[in-house]
Amino acid sequence: MNLAIKTPLQSEVEPVADPLDHLFDSLFHPMGADGVYARTGLYEDVIERLAALITRHRESDTEVVRFPPVMSRAMLEKSGYLKSFPNLLGCVCGLHGSEQDINAAVSRFEKGGDWTSSLSPADLVLSPAACYPVYPIAASRGALPDGGLRFDVSADCFRREPSKILDRFQSFRMREYVCIGNHDDVATFRERWMVRAQALATDLGLTFKVDYASDPFFGRVGQMKAISQVQQSLKFELLVPLRGEDKPTACMSFNYHRDHFGLTWDIKDSDGNPAHTGCVAFGMDRLAVAMFQTHGTEVAKWPQTVRSLLAF
Ligand code: AMP
Ligand code: ZN
Repeated sequence: MNLAIKTPLQSEVEPVADPLDHLFDSLFHPMGADGVYARTGLYEDVIERLAALITRHRESDTEVVRFPPVMSRAMLEKSGYLKSFPNLLGCVCGLHGSEQDINAAVSRFEKGGDWTSSLSPADLVLSPAACYPVYPIAASRGALPDGGLRFDVSADCFRREPSKILDRFQSFRMREYVCIGNHDDVATFRERWMVRAQALATDLGLTFKVDYASDPFFGRVGQMKAISQVQQSLKFELLVPLRGEDKPTACMSFNYHRDHFGLTWDIKDSDGNPAHTGCVAFGMDRLAVAMFQTHGTEVAKWPQTVRSLLAF
């Protein structure tokens, strides 16, 4: 009898190391879930310095609003999120039954059973991006002034995309500048920020390119939406090649939503037309990882120009 012995490929026996893996111990502590990490003081200090740098570039007449990590489920549903990214959404659930129902769920758990079958959805979702809750706030202000409104928003965001790759988090910080106005207000806002953001990335010593991009729309219909998004130049990303030129990491995005949120929330520009909106989003955790991957984990050895920019 001829017993053929199959030798497994190396990649079948152990996961291939990612070029960013060496950063993990200096920057994070594991928390038992992929893409959800506790952050070290070293890492958090850089996050805070990057945030302060972004603040220093805030345009005048920009209103600051800070959001919690959850938002109204009804508002996110109304925003159309489920049409585009249902697979990424995290929804808050709770034990909403009677005392008896809740006790039954807990005792099922204590006996090794499944308590989660008693969960039901709450009226909250985990915010998937920092700007969603700002549009209904703007809508409540009435017609926009000439030149529109600008906001500086941030939130801890959640996207259900578990991954062992260190720069793809499920829970991450997003900072955004948002413009709500007419087409020209938003177009010039986005152009200004695309120039400013590239200057920032250059000053931070990052290698990057800016390219057309599309959102990861769900499913086959989503692929068509993504193509049309690129064709209409609705999204650009600042991409940092953290693992070589292949699959660079998007650290910022420059988005034009046309009149989507204006129509959804009935926001009118100063001429009474549906408002246009756009945002520039900074992926704070990705920017921090990019800084450590580019300059190393010893911040004392970072280039002097970068250190002074970050006020070290
Ligand atoms: P987006 O709304 O997809 O353009 O996201 C805005 C920015 O958030 C991106 O440019 C990234 O820098 C950051 N971001 C998006 N998804 C993730 C993720 N899974 N992990 C870390 N940062 C992310
Ligand atoms: Zn946004």
